[in-house]
Amino acid sequence: MEREVRDQQRRLALFYRLASQTDDALFIIDSVEGRVTECNHSARAWLGVWPFVEGTDPAIPSVFQSFDQWKAFLDEAATKGSARFEWDVKSADGSSAVCEILARLVNEQGVSYVVAVGRDVTSRVETERDLMDQTQRDGLTGILNRRAFDAALVELWESSAQTTTPLALLMMDVDHFKAYNDTLGHPAGDECLRAVSGAIGRMIRYPGLRVFRYGGEEFVGLLPVTDVGAARNAAEDLRRTVEGLGLAHPASPTSNRVTISTGVASRIPNLDDDPADLLAAADEALYRAKFEGRNRVATALPF
Ligand code: GH3
Ligand code: MG
Ligand code: MG
Repeated sequence: MEREVRDQQRRLALFYRLASQTDDALFIIDSVEGRVTECNHSARAWLGVWPFVEGTDPAIPSVFQSFDQWKAFLDEAATKGSARFEWDVKSADGSSAVCEILARLVNEQGVSYVVAVGRDVTSRVETERDLMDQTQRDGLTGILNRRAFDAALVELWESSAQTTTPLALLMMDVDHFKAYNDTLGHPAGDECLRAVSGAIGRMIRYPGLRVFRYGGEEFVGLLPVTDVGAARNAAEDLRRTVEGLGLAHPASPTSNRVTISTGVASRIPNLDDDPADLLAAADEALYRAKFEGRNRVATALPF
């Protein structure tokens, strides 16, 4: 019997030593008292967790920014039985990491403990963020894609309605692009789209401007807090920028260079309005810009 107890103690001591060496941060909290009863080396070094010392005030692990955050963590684990948290941790050396903490409520001999495991999930989160970014970008040009546009339009529509400010939409289309492909070849057409998107996506004069590839040779720009007059000026600036690239277009009846036509619409939205109306108005104006001779900007009639 005595040997059994000694054997158990030896194994417990070994377990304790090994657990203290794992990279995962382990810590146990007496959930009623809110005190850390045990923690390993990683928990101390990485999350600033310290075990409670009798006769002192319980210290909050430094990874928690306030007592309220610490309390919310314990309350959630206690009420739900388990909880998962994720947040950015700044290390003393200035590097940052994403930390995930899994917490579980355990009852042991009438005492409730929260058993917590903290783990560095930086590489997983970065991969997730990269994947998310890829779903928002167009493969050919690298600028934001139609999916990103759909989300941005709704988001800006709502924020513009809340601030009662006008949201402008610019629908841009490369002129005679079929003829460009037909004469210079599809790879040259691809290169042309990259050059155009690069130029109009980098208009630092308009810090709020977001440009997206809408599809094919069509690009769409969103410009918050911009009325139709200012949006027209911006669109004219973009048109001149593309013309200024000086990309030869031997088959264009409009110009000897690559040019774009743009339809502009702007509106102070109401939350009940459909943002598709803004798109339709800009599209209608684009049609007019084409009809009136291309390489020009047309504005939508009030709608
Ligand atoms: P308009 O001035 O009226 O806009 O005439 P357009 O020739 O530009 O318009 P149309 O819609 O007839 O032709 C668009 C062309 O754009 C046809 C299509 O092959 C080409 N296109 C669409 N996407 C791509 C692409 O990713 N790469 C290349 N090279 N061409 C593309
Ligand atoms: Mg088109
Ligand atoms: Mg076109």
